[in-house]
Formats: sequence, structure tokens, C-alpha cells
Amino acid sequence: MIRLLLALALTLFAPSQTGPSYGISYKLAMTHPASHLFEVTIDVSMPPGESTAFVDFQMPMWQPGRYSVADFAKNVQEFNARSQNRALQWDKVDDQTWRVQRQGNRVITATYRVFGNDLSGTYAQLDTGHANYTGGEIFMYVVGHKPDAVELHAEPPPNWRVVNGHTERPDQHDWKYPNYELMIDNPTEIGPDWTVDDFKVDGKTYLVVIHSRGDEGGRRHAFVRDVEKIVRAETKMWGTPEFNSYTFLMHFAADDRSGDGMEHLNSTQIIESGILADRGVYYAALSTVAHEFFHVWNVKRLRPIELGPWDWTRPAATRGLWIAEGFTQYYGIEMYHRAGFEDSAGFLRNVADSIATIEHSPATRLMSAEASSMAAPFIDRASYRDRTNLQNSSLSYYLKGELIALNLDLLIRGRTKGQRSLDDVMRRAYDEFYLKSPDATYYLKGRGYTIEDFARVVSETAGTDMAGWFAKHVHGVQTLPYDDALSAVGLRLVRTVASQPYTAGIVIDRPDGQALRLGALRSDSAAEHGGLQEGDILLSIGGTPVSRENWLYTLNRYKQGDRVPVSVRRFHQTLDLTIQLGAPDLYNYRIEEIPNAPAEARRLRAAWLEGN
Ligand SMILES: [Zn+2]
Ligand SMILES: [Zn+2]
Repeated sequence: MIRLLLALALTLFAPSQTGPSYGISYKLAMTHPASHLFEVTIDVSMPPGESTAFVDFQMPMWQPGRYSVADFAKNVQEFNARSQNRALQWDKVDDQTWRVQRQGNRVITATYRVFGNDLSGTYAQLDTGHANYTGGEIFMYVVGHKPDAVELHAEPPPNWRVVNGHTERPDQHDWKYPNYELMIDNPTEIGPDWTVDDFKVDGKTYLVVIHSRGDEGGRRHAFVRDVEKIVRAETKMWGTPEFNSYTFLMHFAADDRSGDGMEHLNSTQIIESGILADRGVYYAALSTVAHEFFHVWNVKRLRPIELGPWDWTRPAATRGLWIAEGFTQYYGIEMYHRAGFEDSAGFLRNVADSIATIEHSPATRLMSAEASSMAAPFIDRASYRDRTNLQNSSLSYYLKGELIALNLDLLIRGRTKGQRSLDDVMRRAYDEFYLKSPDATYYLKGRGYTIEDFARVVSETAGTDMAGWFAKHVHGVQTLPYDDALSAVGLRLVRTVASQPYTAGIVIDRPDGQALRLGALRSDSAAEHGGLQEGDILLSIGGTPVSRENWLYTLNRYKQGDRVPVSVRRFHQTLDLTIQLGAPDLYNYRIEEIPNAPAEARRLRAAWLEGN
């Protein structure tokens, strides 16, 4: 059945396939861990009658889940090609493509080394303690043959063991994948000292692989039990997942630097910079677990239509990340709460903090949720070093999406008198677009949704046409109707002026010694109008020398309309400038109960907070 569908998909989507399948197998070795260089061998065998003169090997520009352009090709060195023992001619034809002349051979081999020393959900790390990779940063694909089945053989150093989400037996070193996309959707840990614990929920096996580079404080078993609570809370909402087993690949890196969470089909890769013994790190890791596990359904299976299979020669362009990431953000904090790690007051504080961030953002009236999604290649941990105005012009699709989810959840609960919620939207969409739609491509079951598809499911669930709402709050930049939504559950948003409400738009750069170096100032702010610039060193306000600790306090001795003398250092000179304070620009947000709210609203609130 599946094979039949695959064949059909290949016929329908001929452009990604240039001819009959090739046999493609990868070998990964790591003989010198301290060099941080992985050794990759790719054997390609072509069918008789293949007429192509050359084979192109290509490094992806990026890989799924992280939308910034990574240009993995920059880490490749010592590329070579041969057939049997004869060297083949090859050329680099663009920044990511190596073209090998096959010279009539049906079997060719490409070899290269690739550098990796970042522990993250995007890059790879090889060092004397372990190897960890996702796939796209290591493995080239054969152009025109991404849909072909591939094999992988790993050769670890002595006493290092290999584990990933497709490990079926101890000491497994070989895997087969239906296509390249699925091979690079399977992060892998190779090392001498990781541990594995497991539990079962609804007949499915969950593995918790932990590599700790620091003290665990005896908390590993408690942590595994807490991961299980999250799995139970999320499968209670979604139903039993379709996989047989799922792997949490956890790193407690103890390097004060690395940190990430990345979703995959049958696994997640979560990296904390601290140690498991640290209470804050422990709970931070659990909240990341709550987010990443939700992606099992939202984005890895129920997905925007543009997300897979991918064109790795250009960045992704999807309007749907406010759903894929933003709704996951919403449910991540909700599931953390439902699993019992935070009380209702803490959950509401989290939501209010997100509201504060979005409503304080200079871009909140500039960039819509859809536009934010389209900007993902620039804002999802992009590594560009050039100066941009993204601090002022871009908005997080995580937080905006979280708040859209909050609003829709409460609006649906209110309009259906608690009969339905956003949970129903997610389940219906999963059912329609993943489980029941015919396969649209070779890549994965079902098809992805368009924003219009998703809006239709929301409308059907809410029992009212939501197209206008989407036009205003998703496509447009109109403020979300927080009070409409919150009042359905007897709550309201309260905004108060902060105790030190004036910043004048001054933003202090990240700590850089003791100097008060200005970061990108807020657009159209008092500081900008007064002539301050990014890079200035703030020396004094109103004649008082200022530090990181007292600058805000010193500025807030003044009131709206006051003219404030400010001195800064720029190009080794001291400049005396004046800024005129405008309206307060820092507010506190909190969510509170409406006194004497109707019983109906209180009933809906209880159901919402209890996850019903
Ligand atoms: Zn490791
Ligand atoms: Zn996410």
C-alpha cells in the first residue's frame, strides 16, 4: 500500500526526480575526534542505461526546524571522487555543489571531511567526548535523487555507542531510510557515556537518552518520571501517537553556552547549557520537553504546505510558522501547566509576559504574524554579522503565534459555550491534513495545510466565519482582542504604568565590560530624536554619571516633557545632547479575575485551566 502510493507520488512530482533510482549509501567515520572532522563516504550506484555525464553532490543551505541559512558547505574540506580506485574529475560548480564526471562508470564514490564543533539542533559536534549530529550539516545529497532510498553505516571509535530515534537493537550501526529527508530527520548521539531510561504510555515506548557532561545530582530518575508526565498530558489531548517508539535525546552540556531544542519525527534533541543537578536547568529542560514533544503532531506531521520536501538551495518561505511554532509555544506552556509543574497563576503570568513582550515590541504595528513567518530565515538564529534594523522591524512568530492561539482558544470556548476549544482545531486539522489526505509527495503522509485551510478549520470549530478575524490579526497587524477573549473565561488584562516608566527608547547593548554601550535604539524614540546613536557610550544623565545599575533610575527622576541633558562618548569625543521625554513607554501587564464574573465564565475558566 505504502509502496504503491510512493510510486504514484514519484510520477506526479517528477521534477524532483531526474530518472530511475540510484543506490545511495553513506558511511560516517570519526577517527580523530579532537580534530572535530567527520569523515563521510558516499557510494552511488547507477542503473544500466543511465545516460548522465555527471553526478552533483550538494550540501543543504539549511535544514528543517531552523530557518536561518547555515551554508553547511563552508565546513566541507578535502572533497574527492573516485570509481573503484581511479580518481574521477570533479569541479565545484557553485557554493554548495560538487560535480563529479562519472566517465562511464556506474559506481562512483565521493569522500570528504566536514567540520563540526557546535552542540546544537542545527550544527554537529565531534570532540573527544562524543559525536552529535542532525544530518543536513554532515551529509550531501545527490541532486535529483533526494527521493531515493538511502543507507547509512556509522563507524564510531572503540567503546563509543550509537543511538538515535530509529535504533532498534544495541550496537546497531546500520540504518535504511526511505529518502534523504528522513535520514536527516534523525539526530544521532555517539559516545561512551550516555545513559538510556525508558517508559511506556499507551503501549508506545519512550526512551530518554541523557548525556551529562556535569553533575546530575541524582536527579536522572526523577527527570525521566517528569518527562513521562508531559507525555501523558500531551497524548491525553492528541490521542495515541502513530510511532512505536520515541526518543528524547538530552544533553546537559555544562559548557554555559550551548542550548537548543529541535523537533524530529520520532525524536527530539534538547540541549541545556547547565547541569541536571541545577534545579533551574532541570525545569527549563522539562519546559523544552513540553514544547518539543508537542511538535510530534504540530509541524512534524500536521504541517504548513511548504514544509517538505524542501529545496535546499534557497531558504524556506512559509506563512505558517505562527501556527507551527507559535501554537506549539502556547501549548508548551499550557502542557507544562497541565502536567503539574506550574500552577494556574504561574501559567497566567507566563501569558501576560508574552503579551508585554509583543505589545512593547516596536514592530508590533509593523509586522504581521504571517510576515514574521516569512522573515524566519533572518530571525531564527541567523548568523549574519551585518547591522540590521530587525530589533525594530521584526516580531517573534513564537510569541505572536502563542497569543493568537490564546485568543482563538478562549474565543472558541466562549462561542461554543465550552463545547469546543483550540484542542479540537488541532485534532481536526491533524485528522484532515495528515491522517486522511492522500499523500501529496514522497516525503511524508498526507499533505500540508495552507493558511486558508487552517482558517476554515478554525471557523468550522468555532461555528462562525473567522475570515475577518484572520484578516485583522494574522494577515494584518491589528492589536489582538485580549479582553474579548479573556472575558469569555471571566478574566481581564490590566495594563499599568511601570514604576520606572521612561526609557526614552534607550537600549543598552549586551554586557560589554562596564561601558554602557547603546544597542539599536527604538525607532522614533526620544533618544533617537535627541541624536543618540547605536554604539554611543552613555556617560551621564542630567549630570549624574551612570552605570548599568542606575541609568534607568537616573532617567526616571524626570517626567514627561522634561528636557534631559545627556552626555555620550562617540569616536573618542564627548558629546552633550538633550533628549525630551515623551509619554511613558514601560508598562506592566497582568491578567486578573473579573470580580463577580458570571458562573458560566467561571465554569469555562476552570475547564480551560484544567485542560478540559
Ligand atoms: Zn553527547
Ligand atoms: Zn518549536
